[in-house]
Amino acid sequence: MNRIVTPGGTIGVLGSGQLGRMMALAARRMGYRVHTLSPGTDTPTGQVADVEIAAAYDDLDAIRTFARAVDVVTFEFENVSVDAADAAAEVVPVRPSGSALHITQQRAREKAFLADRGFPVPPFQRVRSLDELAVALGVIGLPAIVKTAAFGYDGKGQHRISTIEQAERTWALVGHQEAIVEQVVDFASEISVVAARGLDGAMVDYGAIENRHVNHILDLSVAPARVPEPVAANAAVLARRILEELSYIGVLCVEFFVTKDHGLLVNEIAPRPHNSGHLTIEACATSQFEQQVRAVCGLALGSTAQPRPAAMVNLLGDVWRNGEPDWDAALSIPGAALHLYGKGAPRAGRKMGHITVVAGTAEEAAERALEARAVL
Ligand code: AMP
Repeated sequence: MNRIVTPGGTIGVLGSGQLGRMMALAARRMGYRVHTLSPGTDTPTGQVADVEIAAAYDDLDAIRTFARAVDVVTFEFENVSVDAADAAAEVVPVRPSGSALHITQQRAREKAFLADRGFPVPPFQRVRSLDELAVALGVIGLPAIVKTAAFGYDGKGQHRISTIEQAERTWALVGHQEAIVEQVVDFASEISVVAARGLDGAMVDYGAIENRHVNHILDLSVAPARVPEPVAANAAVLARRILEELSYIGVLCVEFFVTKDHGLLVNEIAPRPHNSGHLTIEACATSQFEQQVRAVCGLALGSTAQPRPAAMVNLLGDVWRNGEPDWDAALSIPGAALHLYGKGAPRAGRKMGHITVVAGTAEEAAERALEARAVL
């Protein structure tokens, strides 16, 4: 279905978190209406959407009813079932497609997809039992990381294993379910490339973004990434090849490890706008969220030009530890832009918002972003 959805039309978003919220804000600015479906109410997306539907993702009748009221369906949460995407696709176009979702929502499938097509990935083995785990550890070597095949996000479902004696306990921790065992990569840095492919096959990318994680959760992103130019260029080429291999319509993000000899290994693919791309809102001619709107609606993709470097820091619930943060102090930092997602309880580790700073150099942007968070 190559239908174009022009401004004034209605976009249906499965999922209702901050990614849907920022996409809905971009969509509404362009004159679209937005409906969102998730099990919750008063959600980050629902608060800024035209219509918020509370239903389970496996309530296929509710999904079909939802789809009948919109012109195109997309998702902001990749753990929506393929059955739900297929139910919506009976009624309207679903972009990106259920098949792209199917591949990228399960780690083992995603790794196999990449490895089969010659993309560089860390050495890994699929395991389905404790015996297979023991064998795989022999092949991969120690230390290793065991990750549940069903995607956890932000490092959930990941366990580092240093001795063979830990195998049984680790297998219990991953819940006796299919997993992958991966070599621990001694990386020099982590980067991501946010890229998009339109209905006509045109592609754009935002170049390499440098990422720092704390406790497996993204903490700081800086763009452009401070990596050698050929590394950044190669990452963009790989991201575009992945878009093509998936016949993808929409925005996706590829996360990479940069090895000490300037090689690249794909860590994972997010089939949606990504936390590391939030800085495109202030820094780029077209944000990743507007890009997603354009792509899923079948419009021309926008320029990804970034006139000045930028940095983003995440604000987790931990920031509220000592009461209400000092927003005034943060906003006094030159160039600081505040985003809060409208979530209720600021639990430790929960993504509540972020701050972006655009500045003259990447270093300056990173310093100011970290300072803006520190003074909260
Ligand atoms: P993931 O959920 O797979 O994106 O992992 C979250 C973070 O954990 C990554 O961004 C890395 O910082 C770290 N990590 C994951 N896999 C590996 C690995 N094989 N080697 C080293 N660090 C890893």
